[in-house]
Amino acid sequence: MSIARGNPMQTVLFAAPARLWAKYQAPLAEAFRQAGLRVQMADATTPPETVDYIIFAPGGLLADFTPYRRTRAVLSLWAGVERIVTNPSLTQPLARMVDPALSEGMVEWVTGHVLRHHLGLDAHILGQDGIWRGALTPPLARERNVAILGLGELGRAAATALASLNFRVTGWSRAPRELPGIRCLSGAAGLAETLARAEILVTLLPDTPETENLLNAATLARLPRGAVIINPGRGRLIDDAALLAALDAGQIAHATLDVFRTEPLPPDHPFWAHPGVTVTPHIAAETRPASAARVVAENIRRDLAGLPLLHLVDRARGY
Ligand code: NAP
Repeated sequence: MSIARGNPMQTVLFAAPARLWAKYQAPLAEAFRQAGLRVQMADATTPPETVDYIIFAPGGLLADFTPYRRTRAVLSLWAGVERIVTNPSLTQPLARMVDPALSEGMVEWVTGHVLRHHLGLDAHILGQDGIWRGALTPPLARERNVAILGLGELGRAAATALASLNFRVTGWSRAPRELPGIRCLSGAAGLAETLARAEILVTLLPDTPETENLLNAATLARLPRGAVIINPGRGRLIDDAALLAALDAGQIAHATLDVFRTEPLPPDHPFWAHPGVTVTPHIAAETRPASAARVVAENIRRDLAGLPLLHLVDRARGY
Protein backbone atom coordinates (compact mmCIF):
# COMPACT_ATOMS: atom_id res chain seq x y z
CA MET A 1 0.00 0.00 0.00
CA SER A 2 2.73 2.49 0.91
CA ILE A 3 4.50 1.86 -2.41
CA ALA A 4 1.30 2.62 -4.31
CA ARG A 5 0.78 5.85 -2.33
CA GLY A 6 4.31 7.07 -3.11
CA ASN A 7 4.20 5.92 -6.69
CA PRO A 8 0.71 6.69 -7.96
CA MET A 9 -0.63 5.25 -11.19
CA GLN A 10 -0.06 7.53 -14.19
CA THR A 11 -2.51 7.63 -17.05
CA VAL A 12 -0.66 7.98 -20.36
CA LEU A 13 -2.28 8.60 -23.74
CA PHE A 14 -0.52 7.33 -26.87
CA ALA A 15 -1.54 10.01 -29.38
CA ALA A 16 0.22 8.83 -32.51
CA PRO A 17 -0.86 7.09 -35.72
CA ALA A 18 -2.55 3.81 -34.73
CA ARG A 19 -0.06 1.70 -36.71
CA LEU A 20 2.74 2.82 -34.35
CA TRP A 21 1.14 1.29 -31.27
CA ALA A 22 2.20 -2.22 -32.24
CA LYS A 23 5.83 -1.01 -32.40
CA TYR A 24 5.72 0.98 -29.18
CA GLN A 25 3.52 -1.06 -26.86
CA ALA A 26 6.15 -3.49 -25.61
CA PRO A 27 9.10 -1.02 -25.53
CA LEU A 28 7.02 1.50 -23.56
CA ALA A 29 5.87 -1.12 -21.06
CA GLU A 30 9.48 -2.22 -20.56
CA ALA A 31 10.78 1.35 -20.26
CA PHE A 32 8.07 2.27 -17.72
CA ARG A 33 8.90 -0.87 -15.74
CA GLN A 34 12.62 -0.10 -15.74
CA ALA A 35 11.94 3.49 -14.67
CA GLY A 36 9.82 2.22 -11.78
CA LEU A 37 6.66 3.90 -13.12
CA ARG A 38 3.14 2.62 -12.65
CA VAL A 39 1.33 3.37 -15.87
CA GLN A 40 -2.07 2.62 -17.34
CA MET A 41 -2.51 3.48 -21.00
CA ALA A 42 -5.55 5.58 -21.80
CA ASP A 43 -8.07 4.21 -24.28
CA ALA A 44 -11.13 5.56 -26.05
CA THR A 45 -13.16 5.46 -22.83
CA THR A 46 -10.62 7.39 -20.73
CA PRO A 47 -11.87 10.90 -19.86
CA PRO A 48 -9.32 13.44 -21.18
CA GLU A 49 -9.23 15.25 -17.85
CA THR A 50 -7.69 12.16 -16.21
CA VAL A 51 -4.69 11.90 -18.57
CA ASP A 52 -1.34 12.70 -16.90
CA TYR A 53 1.00 12.54 -19.92
CA ILE A 54 0.55 12.45 -23.68
CA ILE A 55 2.98 10.71 -26.02
CA PHE A 56 2.61 12.46 -29.35
CA ALA A 57 3.50 11.90 -32.98
CA PRO A 58 1.99 13.74 -35.96
CA GLY A 59 -0.65 11.94 -37.97
CA GLY A 60 -2.72 10.75 -35.01
CA LEU A 61 -6.25 11.90 -34.21
CA LEU A 62 -5.44 14.32 -31.40
CA ALA A 63 -5.67 17.94 -32.50
CA ASP A 64 -7.32 19.69 -29.55
CA PHE A 65 -5.38 19.61 -26.29
CA THR A 66 -7.90 21.80 -24.41
CA PRO A 67 -9.73 18.97 -22.59
CA TYR A 68 -6.44 17.56 -21.21
CA ARG A 69 -6.49 19.90 -18.24
CA ARG A 70 -4.50 17.65 -15.91
CA THR A 71 -1.84 16.68 -18.44
CA ARG A 72 1.58 17.60 -17.11
CA ALA A 73 3.51 17.26 -20.37
CA VAL A 74 3.25 16.31 -24.03
CA LEU A 75 6.19 14.14 -25.05
CA SER A 76 6.94 14.13 -28.76
CA LEU A 77 8.30 11.01 -30.43
CA TRP A 78 9.70 13.24 -33.17
CA ALA A 79 12.68 15.57 -32.97
CA GLY A 80 11.02 18.08 -35.30
CA VAL A 81 7.95 19.62 -33.67
CA GLU A 82 6.71 22.04 -36.32
CA ARG A 83 3.42 20.18 -36.64
CA ILE A 84 2.50 20.60 -32.98
CA VAL A 85 4.36 23.65 -31.66
CA THR A 86 2.00 26.11 -33.33
CA ASN A 87 -1.17 24.35 -32.12
CA PRO A 88 -2.99 27.11 -30.18
CA SER A 89 -4.77 24.59 -27.92
CA LEU A 90 -1.44 23.25 -26.63
CA THR A 91 -0.70 24.96 -23.33
CA GLN A 92 1.02 22.01 -21.65
CA PRO A 93 4.84 21.80 -21.66
CA LEU A 94 6.13 20.14 -24.83
CA ALA A 95 9.29 18.03 -24.89
CA ARG A 96 10.78 16.83 -28.17
CA MET A 97 12.70 13.66 -28.94
CA VAL A 98 16.42 13.73 -28.32
CA ASP A 99 17.75 10.22 -28.41
CA PRO A 100 21.25 8.86 -28.96
CA ALA A 101 19.90 6.28 -31.45
CA LEU A 102 18.30 9.05 -33.52
CA SER A 103 21.59 10.95 -33.59
CA GLU A 104 23.46 7.76 -34.48
CA GLY A 105 21.13 7.13 -37.41
CA MET A 106 21.49 10.70 -38.63
CA VAL A 107 25.29 10.59 -38.39
CA GLU A 108 25.36 7.42 -40.48
CA TRP A 109 22.98 8.78 -43.12
CA VAL A 110 24.75 12.15 -43.39
CA THR A 111 28.22 10.57 -43.46
CA GLY A 112 27.15 8.10 -46.13
CA HIS A 113 25.74 10.77 -48.41
CA VAL A 114 28.64 13.18 -47.83
CA LEU A 115 31.10 10.40 -48.71
CA ARG A 116 29.09 9.51 -51.83
CA HIS A 117 29.61 13.01 -53.18
CA HIS A 118 33.07 13.57 -51.74
CA LEU A 119 34.43 10.37 -53.29
CA GLY A 120 32.45 10.77 -56.52
CA LEU A 121 31.10 7.28 -56.04
CA ASP A 122 28.45 7.61 -58.73
CA ALA A 123 31.01 8.09 -61.49
CA HIS A 124 32.68 4.82 -60.59
CA ILE A 125 29.67 2.75 -59.61
CA LEU A 126 27.43 3.83 -62.47
CA GLY A 127 30.25 4.00 -65.01
CA GLN A 128 31.20 0.30 -65.25
CA ASP A 129 31.53 0.69 -69.00
CA GLY A 130 35.13 -0.18 -69.84
CA ILE A 131 36.39 3.37 -69.45
CA TRP A 132 39.34 3.75 -67.06
CA ARG A 133 38.44 6.99 -65.26
CA GLY A 134 41.79 7.51 -63.59
CA ALA A 135 41.42 11.28 -63.53
CA LEU A 136 38.60 11.04 -61.01
CA THR A 137 40.78 10.49 -57.95
CA PRO A 138 38.96 12.36 -55.17
CA PRO A 139 40.70 14.87 -52.93
CA LEU A 140 41.30 13.89 -49.33
CA ALA A 141 38.66 14.84 -46.79
CA ARG A 142 41.15 17.30 -45.28
CA GLU A 143 40.92 19.20 -48.59
CA ARG A 144 37.10 19.25 -48.68
CA ASN A 145 34.93 21.98 -47.17
CA VAL A 146 31.71 20.69 -45.68
CA ALA A 147 29.22 22.96 -43.93
CA ILE A 148 26.34 22.14 -41.64
CA LEU A 149 23.46 24.54 -41.08
CA GLY A 150 22.23 23.82 -37.55
CA LEU A 151 24.47 22.78 -34.70
CA GLY A 152 21.84 21.24 -32.45
CA GLU A 153 21.71 17.63 -31.27
CA LEU A 154 21.89 16.22 -34.79
CA GLY A 155 24.00 18.89 -36.47
CA ARG A 156 26.64 18.68 -33.74
CA ALA A 157 26.79 14.89 -33.99
CA ALA A 158 27.11 14.98 -37.78
CA ALA A 159 29.69 17.79 -37.69
CA THR A 160 31.78 15.95 -35.12
CA ALA A 161 31.68 12.71 -37.11
CA LEU A 162 32.70 14.48 -40.33
CA ALA A 163 35.49 16.34 -38.55
CA SER A 164 36.75 13.01 -37.20
CA LEU A 165 37.12 11.90 -40.84
CA ASN A 166 39.26 15.04 -41.40
CA PHE A 167 36.70 17.06 -43.39
CA ARG A 168 37.07 20.82 -42.99
CA VAL A 169 33.79 21.44 -41.23
CA THR A 170 32.05 24.75 -40.75
CA GLY A 171 28.83 24.90 -38.73
CA TRP A 172 26.21 27.62 -38.43
CA SER A 173 23.71 28.14 -35.64
CA ARG A 174 21.55 30.88 -34.21
CA ALA A 175 23.58 31.36 -31.02
CA PRO A 176 27.40 31.32 -31.15
CA ARG A 177 28.81 27.90 -30.33
CA GLU A 178 32.21 26.37 -29.75
CA LEU A 179 32.92 22.82 -30.87
CA PRO A 180 36.34 21.21 -31.04
CA GLY A 181 37.63 20.87 -34.60
CA ILE A 182 34.69 22.74 -36.13
CA ARG A 183 34.59 26.32 -37.35
CA CYS A 184 31.43 27.64 -35.71
CA LEU A 185 29.69 30.70 -37.10
CA SER A 186 26.39 32.46 -36.43
CA GLY A 187 24.36 35.43 -37.59
CA ALA A 188 23.82 36.76 -41.11
CA ALA A 189 27.51 37.36 -41.76
CA GLY A 190 28.27 33.87 -40.46
CA LEU A 191 25.72 32.38 -42.84
CA ALA A 192 27.25 34.18 -45.82
CA GLU A 193 30.70 32.93 -44.84
CA THR A 194 29.44 29.39 -44.22
CA LEU A 195 27.78 29.22 -47.62
CA ALA A 196 30.72 30.75 -49.47
CA ARG A 197 33.00 27.85 -48.54
CA ALA A 198 30.51 24.94 -48.60
CA GLU A 199 31.38 22.45 -51.31
CA ILE A 200 28.97 20.09 -49.57
CA LEU A 201 26.17 21.68 -47.53
CA VAL A 202 24.12 19.70 -45.00
CA THR A 203 20.95 21.29 -43.62
CA LEU A 204 19.94 20.22 -40.13
CA LEU A 205 17.77 23.13 -39.08
CA PRO A 206 14.26 22.93 -37.65
CA ASP A 207 11.26 24.15 -39.63
CA THR A 208 10.35 27.55 -38.20
CA PRO A 209 9.12 30.82 -39.74
CA GLU A 210 12.75 32.03 -39.65
CA THR A 211 14.23 29.04 -41.44
CA GLU A 212 11.59 28.65 -44.16
CA ASN A 213 13.18 29.12 -47.59
CA LEU A 214 16.56 29.82 -46.02
CA LEU A 215 17.98 28.20 -49.14
CA ASN A 216 16.56 30.43 -51.86
CA ALA A 217 17.85 31.90 -55.12
CA ALA A 218 20.05 34.43 -53.28
CA THR A 219 21.58 32.03 -50.76
CA LEU A 220 22.05 29.23 -53.30
CA ALA A 221 23.99 31.71 -55.43
CA ARG A 222 26.42 32.24 -52.53
CA LEU A 223 27.55 28.60 -52.61
CA PRO A 224 30.63 27.70 -54.65
CA ARG A 225 29.62 26.69 -58.18
CA GLY A 226 28.95 22.96 -58.35
CA ALA A 227 28.14 22.60 -54.66
CA VAL A 228 26.16 19.64 -53.35
CA ILE A 229 23.21 20.02 -50.99
CA ILE A 230 22.16 17.31 -48.56
CA ASN A 231 18.90 18.03 -46.74
CA PRO A 232 17.78 15.71 -43.97
CA GLY A 233 16.33 18.68 -42.01
CA ARG A 234 12.96 19.78 -43.34
CA GLY A 235 11.56 20.37 -46.82
CA ARG A 236 10.50 23.94 -46.12
CA LEU A 237 14.12 24.99 -45.57
CA ILE A 238 14.50 25.01 -49.35
CA ASP A 239 12.66 26.96 -52.04
CA ASP A 240 12.00 24.06 -54.43
CA ALA A 241 11.75 26.20 -57.57
CA ALA A 242 14.97 28.04 -56.74
CA LEU A 243 16.77 24.74 -56.16
CA LEU A 244 15.57 23.32 -59.49
CA ALA A 245 16.70 26.49 -61.27
CA ALA A 246 20.12 26.33 -59.55
CA LEU A 247 20.46 22.65 -60.54
CA ASP A 248 19.54 23.41 -64.15
CA ALA A 249 22.06 26.25 -64.22
CA GLY A 250 24.86 24.04 -62.84
CA GLN A 251 25.21 26.24 -59.76
CA ILE A 252 24.23 23.18 -57.70
CA ALA A 253 25.67 19.89 -58.94
CA HIS A 254 23.41 17.62 -56.92
CA ALA A 255 20.80 17.68 -54.17
CA THR A 256 20.15 14.71 -51.93
CA LEU A 257 16.80 15.32 -50.26
CA ASP A 258 15.21 13.26 -47.50
CA VAL A 259 12.44 15.67 -46.52
CA PHE A 260 9.87 17.60 -48.54
CA ARG A 261 7.14 20.19 -48.26
CA THR A 262 4.60 17.47 -49.03
CA GLU A 263 5.32 13.91 -47.87
CA PRO A 264 5.16 11.45 -49.46
CA LEU A 265 6.68 13.47 -52.30
CA PRO A 266 3.93 13.54 -54.99
CA PRO A 267 4.73 11.29 -57.99
CA ASP A 268 4.61 14.25 -60.39
CA HIS A 269 7.03 16.42 -58.41
CA PRO A 270 9.98 17.44 -60.63
CA PHE A 271 12.47 16.25 -57.99
CA TRP A 272 11.69 12.62 -58.91
CA ALA A 273 12.74 12.96 -62.53
CA HIS A 274 15.60 15.43 -62.16
CA PRO A 275 18.98 13.77 -62.82
CA GLY A 276 20.62 16.05 -60.25
CA VAL A 277 18.31 15.05 -57.40
CA THR A 278 18.37 12.00 -55.16
CA VAL A 279 15.16 11.45 -53.22
CA THR A 280 15.13 9.38 -50.05
CA PRO A 281 11.78 8.85 -48.28
CA HIS A 282 12.29 10.63 -44.92
CA ILE A 283 14.42 7.82 -43.57
CA ALA A 284 17.55 9.68 -42.53
CA ALA A 285 16.97 9.10 -38.83
CA GLU A 286 13.90 7.30 -37.64
CA THR A 287 12.85 7.33 -34.02
CA ARG A 288 13.66 3.86 -32.67
CA PRO A 289 10.96 2.55 -30.31
CA ALA A 290 13.25 0.94 -27.70
CA SER A 291 15.45 3.98 -27.12
CA ALA A 292 12.65 6.52 -27.63
CA ALA A 293 10.52 4.73 -25.04
CA ARG A 294 13.37 5.08 -22.54
CA VAL A 295 13.56 8.82 -23.26
CA VAL A 296 9.81 9.17 -22.67
CA ALA A 297 9.91 7.14 -19.46
CA GLU A 298 12.89 9.08 -18.15
CA ASN A 299 11.09 12.38 -18.71
CA ILE A 300 7.99 11.15 -16.85
CA ARG A 301 10.21 9.88 -14.02
CA ARG A 302 11.97 13.23 -13.82
CA ASP A 303 8.75 15.18 -13.82
CA LEU A 304 7.28 13.07 -11.03
CA ALA A 305 10.51 13.53 -9.06
CA GLY A 306 10.17 17.30 -9.37
CA LEU A 307 13.06 17.62 -11.83
CA PRO A 308 12.79 19.79 -14.96
CA LEU A 309 11.73 18.02 -18.16
CA LEU A 310 14.52 17.32 -20.62
CA HIS A 311 14.42 18.65 -24.21
CA LEU A 312 11.71 21.23 -23.61
CA VAL A 313 10.62 23.09 -26.73
CA ASP A 314 10.85 26.85 -26.67
CA ARG A 315 7.47 27.89 -28.09
CA ALA A 316 8.65 31.36 -29.04
CA ARG A 317 11.57 30.01 -31.09
CA GLY A 318 9.49 27.13 -32.43
CA TYR A 319 12.07 24.40 -31.77
P1 NAP B 1 17.98 21.10 -32.35
O1 NAP B 1 18.82 20.40 -31.34
O2 NAP B 1 16.82 21.90 -31.89
O3 NAP B 1 18.98 22.03 -33.20
C1 NAP B 1 18.54 22.98 -34.10
C2 NAP B 1 19.74 23.79 -34.58
O4 NAP B 1 19.28 24.72 -35.56
C3 NAP B 1 20.40 24.60 -33.46
O5 NAP B 1 21.79 24.64 -33.62
C4 NAP B 1 19.80 25.99 -33.68
O6 NAP B 1 20.62 27.05 -33.24
C5 NAP B 1 19.71 26.02 -35.18
N1 NAP B 1 18.74 27.03 -35.59
C6 NAP B 1 17.40 27.05 -35.39
N2 NAP B 1 16.87 28.16 -35.91
C7 NAP B 1 17.88 28.86 -36.45
C8 NAP B 1 17.96 30.10 -37.13
N3 NAP B 1 16.87 30.84 -37.35
N4 NAP B 1 19.17 30.52 -37.52
C9 NAP B 1 20.27 29.77 -37.29
N5 NAP B 1 20.28 28.59 -36.65
C10 NAP B 1 19.07 28.14 -36.24
O7 NAP B 1 17.42 20.09 -33.43
P2 NAP B 1 18.01 18.66 -33.84
O8 NAP B 1 17.63 17.63 -32.86
O9 NAP B 1 19.45 18.82 -34.19
O10 NAP B 1 17.16 18.37 -35.17
C11 NAP B 1 17.25 19.24 -36.29
C12 NAP B 1 16.14 18.94 -37.26
O11 NAP B 1 16.39 17.70 -37.93
C13 NAP B 1 14.77 18.69 -36.63
O12 NAP B 1 14.13 19.92 -36.34
C14 NAP B 1 14.06 17.95 -37.71
O13 NAP B 1 13.42 18.89 -38.56
C15 NAP B 1 15.17 17.25 -38.47
N6 NAP B 1 15.11 15.78 -38.34
C16 NAP B 1 15.00 15.04 -39.49
C17 NAP B 1 14.97 13.66 -39.41
C18 NAP B 1 14.91 12.81 -40.65
O14 NAP B 1 14.75 11.60 -40.56
N7 NAP B 1 15.05 13.39 -41.82
C19 NAP B 1 15.03 13.03 -38.16
C20 NAP B 1 15.12 13.80 -37.03
C21 NAP B 1 15.16 15.19 -37.13
P3 NAP B 1 21.00 27.21 -31.68
O15 NAP B 1 22.03 26.13 -31.43
O16 NAP B 1 21.57 28.56 -31.60
O17 NAP B 1 19.73 27.01 -30.92
